[in-house]
Amino acid sequence: MASVSPSVGLRSISLFSKEELEAMISTAHARGVKVAAHANTPKAMNLLMDLGVDTIEHGGEMYDAETGDRGLLRKVAKAGSPGGTGRESGGGGGLTWVPTLAAYYTSSLDGSKFGKRRWERCKTTFEQAIKMGNAARRDGSVAPSSATSHSSRSPAVSLEKGKGKDDKCEDKDKNDLEFLWNEEPMENIACGGDTGVFSHGKNALELILMRQLGASWERVLGWATLGGWKCVRGMEWEGEEGIIRVRSREKGVMASFGGSSGAFGMDGLRLSERSEGEDDQEDEEEEEEVGLDRDVPFGVIRGGWAADLVAVKGKLDGSPAEFEWALTEGMSFVMKSGIIYKMDGIEVLG
Ligand SMILES: [Zn+2]
Repeated sequence: MASVSPSVGLRSISLFSKEELEAMISTAHARGVKVAAHANTPKAMNLLMDLGVDTIEHGGEMYDAETGDRGLLRKVAKAGSPGGTGRESGGGGGLTWVPTLAAYYTSSLDGSKFGKRRWERCKTTFEQAIKMGNAARRDGSVAPSSATSHSSRSPAVSLEKGKGKDDKCEDKDKNDLEFLWNEEPMENIACGGDTGVFSHGKNALELILMRQLGASWERVLGWATLGGWKCVRGMEWEGEEGIIRVRSREKGVMASFGGSSGAFGMDGLRLSERSEGEDDQEDEEEEEEVGLDRDVPFGVIRGGWAADLVAVKGKLDGSPAEFEWALTEGMSFVMKSGIIYKMDGIEVLG
């Protein structure tokens, strides 16, 4: 392999012009599909968001610890809400950030200064992001002055062996609390991205790192399930139309279970049996084009949603270490689209 100057080789360079990005994003959206962008620098992220990209993978430089500038974090959080940045320019249902912690972490294990620095920076960005909006508010509108549970709950212990407790967090938390309270919480996060940087099958590492960096187990599981669907679903699930579509799926299935007819029965029949020619033509055309996977929402345990289910032994709602054990050692039951692949920890054959 030819040797290159590391300072040039490691420099962040945008691979596409603004016009090219604009064309790619608008074409994808016109075809009803979303656009994921792997980006790191604030400049690239700002541009992509303004052009209405749907997900940003990486984004490790979203927060600048040196200047303490939280502008981009706020912009990303806001862009996740209906009406946020991106939607105005033809984007889908708001932006999702896919932090790819597992990719950064794994890359840092080569011992290079660059890898280590990048992991540290992305870790700080993630820690800042999950504090936004103040976790205490979600837990029951506790006033900022008395909301200390967040600090005591966050272990903020690095996975790196030999590295002790990250103690910069606690005092800073208290100081930050008041103004973080006024920020929109960053809920538009998802787990995934860059599988292959770490071994396939080790995807739980992303969840484990998120938990270790202080995110609550409920939030992490939400980002790993519903968060994922929000990233990959077609544009037909976005906005008002999307909400109606989800409700129709849910009610349709309930109606087909209960045997009642009514406006939703037809839809449920189509969802469960895939019978053709019973719906209006416009919908039928779309069905054929998108196929079953895209037509069934997933990530929530409810009627009308895909029967994807994972059950683990252990304690998901315990400490980060217990959370890690449950996901890596406690995997007991796996069901995908109603088919069981693992039962009592043993793979089901055939
Ligand atoms: Zn990437």
